Amino acid sequence: MFASQEECIFCNSYNKDNKKVIWENKEAFSVLNYKPSIPGHALIITKQHLTDLKEITGSILEDFIHAIPQTFEAIQLIYEQDPESIEEFYKELIKNPPEFNSSQFAEQMLKHPHLLVKPIAYNWGMNYGFEAGQRAIHLHIHLFPRREMGLGIATAMRKHLAENNITNF
Ligand SMILES: [Zn+2]
Repeated sequence: MFASQEECIFCNSYNKDNKKVIWENKEAFSVLNYKPSIPGHALIITKQHLTDLKEITGSILEDFIHAIPQTFEAIQLIYEQDPESIEEFYKELIKNPPEFNSSQFAEQMLKHPHLLVKPIAYNWGMNYGFEAGQRAIHLHIHLFPRREMGLGIATAMRKHLAENNITNF
């Protein structure tokens, strides 16, 4: 079900490809997601292969949480200085998809009206447990940059469930 550390995507392809790292501190690093939901969608990942949220304390917890606003600022800076690098990143995902379906997700990003628009707000969250959609067991936070008045995560989920008649979410 879950990958072991040897197979862990965060301990392997994400962690070793340093040019994709957009921000880091001692215990955490941030990258653009290989399966993005929104342009600039980033992941904040613990540097150690940690899996239990209850077990992270002290400086690891501090660095992990501190990385959230820092990553957002790093994304804003990319949009200020070199927004085309985001577009290039998605084109590269199509050329060399690192994960199953990466190219389909990246194609959606290239068509997205906010592809080159600097974000001004963000949502963040974590899928914790298989039933909650967690697929990589290594602790990570999703950061979703936002640009205009829109729905919060809880409201968006409610709308999605209602529109798609989903009862077993
Ligand atoms: Zn790992």
